[in-house]
Amino acid sequence: MSLTPVDPTKPYDPENIFAKILRGEIPSTKVYEDEWAYAFNDIAPVAPIHVLVIPKNGYVSWDDFSEKAPAEEIAGFIRAVGKVARQLGLVEEGYRLINNIGPNGGQIVPHIHVHLMGGRVMGPMLTPE
Ligand code: 5GP
Repeated sequence: MSLTPVDPTKPYDPENIFAKILRGEIPSTKVYEDEWAYAFNDIAPVAPIHVLVIPKNGYVSWDDFSEKAPAEEIAGFIRAVGKVARQLGLVEEGYRLINNIGPNGGQIVPHIHVHLMGGRVMGPMLTPE
């Protein structure tokens, strides 16, 4: 996998790794799927539960998605993230959602994805400088 940060101003690349996962060209471990979203285990988990939730249509980043996706799709995607957490039984103990955008955000894969992490105390959000 390329570790080059995503340029969030570039057009969507349908050959990115998550597009290939959506098309079934690359295997993934499915956690949840509906009309709007696909959720699968992160290949390099940093928590006991580390799931990636992605919209089925191609958007580079949160910026792209929030600007261009129809309201129905945004609602469907956000509801799907909540459904995944409930399906995994994470609501009572809590969990963390992260979305990285572009170079400063640490985004590597140019298809918007929400990291859903749980199963342990996550600790502080960021280490103070
Ligand atoms: P980002 O830094 O872009 O927010 O996070 C990308 C995430 O995608 C990383 O946590 C990384 O482990 C995960 N990832 C990268 N390639 C693959 C893959 O081929 N399969 C799966 N399941 N996860 C991947």
